[in-house]
Amino acid sequence: MINITDNNKNACCGCTACACICPKRCITMQEDKEGFKYPSVDKETCIKCGLCEKVCPIINNQTNGKDMPYTAYIVRNNDPEIVKNSSSGGAVTAFCEEILNQNGIIFGAAYDKDFNVYHSSAETVQDLSKFRTSKYVQSDLGNTFSDIKKWLDSGRIVMFSGTPCQVEGLVNFLRKPYDNLFTVDLVCHGVPSPFVWKKYREYMESKFNSKITYANFREKTYGYHSANLTLRFANGKRSVENTNTDYMLKSYFDGICSRPSCYSCPSRSAGRISDLTVFDCWNVTRYVPSVPDDDKGYTAVIIQSEKGKKLFESISDKITKYEADVNMLLQTDGKMALQNPEIHPKRKEYFEMLNSGITIDKVVKNTIPVKTSRKIFGKFRGTLYKTGILKLLKRLK
Ligand SMILES: Cc1cc2nc3c(=O)[nH]c(=O)nc-3n(C[C@H](O)[C@H](O)[C@H](O)COP(=O)(O)OP(=O)(O)OC[C@H]3O[C@@H](n4cnc5c(N)ncnc54)[C@H](O)[C@@H]3O)c2cc1C
Repeated sequence: MINITDNNKNACCGCTACACICPKRCITMQEDKEGFKYPSVDKETCIKCGLCEKVCPIINNQTNGKDMPYTAYIVRNNDPEIVKNSSSGGAVTAFCEEILNQNGIIFGAAYDKDFNVYHSSAETVQDLSKFRTSKYVQSDLGNTFSDIKKWLDSGRIVMFSGTPCQVEGLVNFLRKPYDNLFTVDLVCHGVPSPFVWKKYREYMESKFNSKITYANFREKTYGYHSANLTLRFANGKRSVENTNTDYMLKSYFDGICSRPSCYSCPSRSAGRISDLTVFDCWNVTRYVPSVPDDDKGYTAVIIQSEKGKKLFESISDKITKYEADVNMLLQTDGKMALQNPEIHPKRKEYFEMLNSGITIDKVVKNTIPVKTSRKIFGKFRGTLYKTGILKLLKRLK
């Protein structure tokens, strides 16, 4: 029986495989003080069948020991609007469109009306826009795995995109290979707490005295290399902050608010059980010197399976691609595929303060303060971008 307590939280990635497989439906996902969901077993109803442990991707990790993949590409979607509105090169949208062409159904991470992040489905090209761009928050899977199984058993083609642990959880939950399932996983730094995201939104809505109407963790306002977390408000105002100045982004990249299991993630590996792995390609000219970096973004794609190869080949007319060396890609841009983020020493203090009702600006100030030089630089970034100085500084760096 799955048994997650305060002492072994890093043994659960929250993938929901155990809750979805339980024949007695006696496992529910319950939120803890940090805002992450964990399985809670109703011991009276449990028949100790052990299925929950069998499908757990942390207990039965299939990634470890999988062969190193051998093909990788740098990809850009041929539609500039899709590239503009995607985290990197818009490769994932091209995969989704091809699956829709085959009358398939897509599952990915989207926002609900209050900007909570959850997995949902799409069956039309128009509806795909909700999946575009990375949401740096753990998505709520709900009953996604059970829904996917129903579609697969009915013969429908399904594509699932998510974090590596979510893909492993899904594959374990299904317990047999399906030719009609395509999985795309990300190189994942870790997933931040939905509670932190909620506290951040509350703070920003109070600061701007208005409701959030738009959120984008990766808006390319000042180019791909200087992506911002952008919020728009009902009163017409907007907030555009970067990884050094934004309270949410800084909390994430300083390693202070990710799920405990992310700091010792067993799914970090070059070879994955997914069909395709995607990540940011920050250094395109290093892999393909003939391609100039126009600061619009490229997606790095690793082909993990024969099925992935076929899907990749079938999107040739939708993308521009360059073959790249897998090792070089992983060592330069895909480091987080192999390397765990470091846990911040003040993580406990950070969550205690947030739980006590202190607003996120003050919590950040007390634990991971924003440097004054960064604040000043952040204020002038718009001007530096417009005058071309930002680009020059990036190049020099
Ligand atoms: C939490 C997280 C951490 C990441 N960490 C890294 C990293 O350290 N290094 C790196 O190179 N790349 C990382 N990425 C991947 C990167 O940000 C892009 O997703 C990737 O470059 C693909 O871009 P795209 O333009 O092709 O696709 P996009 O159109 O941007 O979207 C890709 C897909 O991401 C999925 N997605 C978005 N948010 C979530 C979420 N919260 N949970 C699960 N799935 C989600 C959606 O289902 C969507 O279909 C991370 C992504 C996420 C979500």
